Amino acid sequence: MKFKKANKNINEKVIKINFNKPLTDKIYYNFLKKIYILRFLCKNKKLCITLNNKKINIAKEKDQRIINIYHIEKAINIKDKKQRYEYIYDVVCNYLDESFQKGNLCEFINNQCLSDRNKKFKKSCGCCCENNNNLCEYLENDHCTIKCISCKLFTCPALKRNRIKFRIKDIPLLNYFFNLRQKEVLVYTFFTPKEKIIEKLIKFRL
Ligand code: SF4
Ligand code: SF4
Repeated sequence: MKFKKANKNINEKVIKINFNKPLTDKIYYNFLKKIYILRFLCKNKKLCITLNNKKINIAKEKDQRIINIYHIEKAINIKDKKQRYEYIYDVVCNYLDESFQKGNLCEFINNQCLSDRNKKFKKSCGCCCENNNNLCEYLENDHCTIKCISCKLFTCPALKRNRIKFRIKDIPLLNYFFNLRQKEVLVYTFFTPKEKIIEKLIKFRL
């Protein structure tokens, strides 16, 4: 994989990357290591990534590595920081929702999760939802009414015992686009709406 600078037209400079070999883990992780330099090189340029000279189409894509490359290209091409953070936030929240729902990772039965079923006083609210022993204020009719990425990233001890954990370092859009302080915000700002978390991310950007 080589970066290729190309003048698409007089006003627009483009950095092109073409993956012309089957995507192995080695090629993928080499690409991830170059994200910081790509972000720097593309400050005022557009990034164009192709697979065998074709634009990536994720409509029916199953390979999470290719989906990640697609979103990394998109994020780098959003030059406004707030809009970029919002894009990343939404993509990662959707990814987490799908992972939890598709795999029924919390093993819900009658709205009661794996962890709650093992407790003496069982609740059935369809969520972790305890904020200082009170039900979370954002829980309505068994549904969360906000989009809180920290809640979505959270995995309780019962899930960890099942070897389920979502770590920032395994999610390239979080690992390579945020600094340490911002990563703390992403992990620990529970029970908080998206707008407030985005504000904090902007406050702590370098
Ligand atoms: S993360 Fe744990 S406590 Fe929260 S809903 Fe899933 S199983 Fe229940
Ligand atoms: S904010 Fe968190 S704890 Fe509250 S309802 Fe939503 S997911 Fe559950």
